[in-house]
Amino acid sequence: MKFRWKRVVFRIRVKGPKKLLGHLRVKDYRENKEAARGRALARLSHFNQFYNLKVGKVFIRNQKSRWGSCSSKGNLNFNYKIAMLPSELSDYIIVHELCHLAQMNHSKNFWSLVEQQIPNYKNLRAELKKY
Ligand SMILES: [Zn+2]
Repeated sequence: MKFRWKRVVFRIRVKGPKKLLGHLRVKDYRENKEAARGRALARLSHFNQFYNLKVGKVFIRNQKSRWGSCSSKGNLNFNYKIAMLPSELSDYIIVHELCHLAQMNHSKNFWSLVEQQIPNYKNLRAELKKY
């Protein structure tokens, strides 16, 4: 007499957790978005006392691969994840985008503007790649 083991696979479909995870992600984004906005605005006004540039609107976005960007209209975009960075790194990002309002490129002049407020920007750029 042979015994044959049958493998029984239970498939349980749970819709809840997936939904919840999505919900949490959105919540996480929303919470950090406001923290990121607060940090960006505070530091922009701090550094712009020095640069005195015309800043348009400031947007906080959920971007996968960018920390920030600057539009030709003078608007600045920052990734909400700047809220989770050490402040010296988010300061570098904020100054970087702020300086694009004066120089829409990565020329020598651009970097010398950045350097005036972030003297160790080269180290910070390298550090940021770890994140
Ligand atoms: Zn740039």
